[in-house]
Amino acid sequence: MADADVPAQLQQLQDAVGELENSHARAAAEELRRELEGLRDRMSALLAKEGSGSAAAPGPPPPAAARQPTSKMSDEVVDSNPYSRLMALQRMGVVKNYEAIRAKTVAIVGVGGVGSVAAEMLTRCGIGRLLLYDYDKVELANMNRLFFRPEQSGMTKTQAAAATLAGINPDVALEPYTMNVTTVEGFDRFKESLVDGDGRSRVDLILSCVDNYEARMTINQVCLELRQSWMESGVSEDAVSGHIQTVLPGTTACFACVPPLVVASGIDERTLKREGVCAASLPTTMGIVAGLLVQNALKFLLEFGTVSRYLGYASLHDFFPSMDIKPNPGCANELCVRRQQEEAARQAQAGDAQAAAGDEDQTDEAPVHEENEWGIEVVPEGASGTSAEEVSEAAALAPPVTTTTINELPQGLEFAAGPGGVDAKELEELAVKPTDAGLDDLLSQLNSMQ
Ligand SMILES: [Zn+2]
Repeated sequence: MADADVPAQLQQLQDAVGELENSHARAAAEELRRELEGLRDRMSALLAKEGSGSAAAPGPPPPAAARQPTSKMSDEVVDSNPYSRLMALQRMGVVKNYEAIRAKTVAIVGVGGVGSVAAEMLTRCGIGRLLLYDYDKVELANMNRLFFRPEQSGMTKTQAAAATLAGINPDVALEPYTMNVTTVEGFDRFKESLVDGDGRSRVDLILSCVDNYEARMTINQVCLELRQSWMESGVSEDAVSGHIQTVLPGTTACFACVPPLVVASGIDERTLKREGVCAASLPTTMGIVAGLLVQNALKFLLEFGTVSRYLGYASLHDFFPSMDIKPNPGCANELCVRRQQEEAARQAQAGDAQAAAGDEDQTDEAPVHEENEWGIEVVPEGASGTSAEEVSEAAALAPPVTTTTINELPQGLEFAAGPGGVDAKELEELAVKPTDAGLDDLLSQLNSMQ
């Protein structure tokens, strides 16, 4: 075979392969068309059978059964009123104005085992507007949890959830966002979707129902930027414990404030969703955590009861640790520190106004250190021996629940990373940044944290 023939023969060979592929594709298409026709016939037969009432085939209810949107929440006690049981909360004195919920907007980030159930609860409670964020699709592996159905496999979680929720309560305005908030572009889109024309948040509360550390840090950052209240939730990798946490920028600890994150399970959040590791999950734990989360969201939105700052759930012993996590003045996130200073200034101003009004009882201040839950000490400027390592070590050792030592955490609680579990480099990174604030400023910050 002469060399010159090679390109020509190659061309012939390529044509032959192309022809073969075309004919295969045609055959496959023909096969699919026949299958589709067969399926259509079977479906028509089934529908006809159902129409004649001879079969109890499961399926969506006929459109006539779906309820129409209502313009007002009625408190009329009739079986046809979807809000009668909710409006009864008002009649019984639990909630002052239940209908205020119609003016509330909640964003749910992560529409998985916890987020989807939280979304359904808020929808049934008649929330005004729900923003739903997720990038994932429904899979059969999700069917051990609540909410999604097998026939929704392959749909995006946001679209599947929006379709189900719209059917449950057409009064709720639903905004599905199929996106990953942790990418650079996702961060910007996420933030944009939360604000109004003036760049202010149009959302009353964000619920974090994500399953990884990075997404929580993203939500934390957006919320610090927008001064947005949010609630964090989590379920442990072994499926038997969980927690919720309320984050009010400047007022409570932000997600970055407590480096050795305290969790009831003792599992480091950073290890969640490890490559190749299949986490366990239970519909019970996820349902309970979603219930605790939405219960506190309702209390926050409708201003009743006490909103939990941190509530854990350790199912093996039915232990529910509860605590307040104060903001860390040495938080690694500088924006968090700025929000803390703004809050301190706001409180100082409120205190001045009170003093000016001559309200002497209110200006009687309690001793500063009476409830120093962080065990924080103010060291005079220029004092020796306050290296960055020592300060961050003190922060790492400060348990948010007791005034004394790490050994006195309530039974069942443990630190995810003890002082020995954090390496020197990490401590260096988390170290308190030098500040120009004087001793008086620091003391007033400390005052504001009671
Ligand atoms: Zn912080």
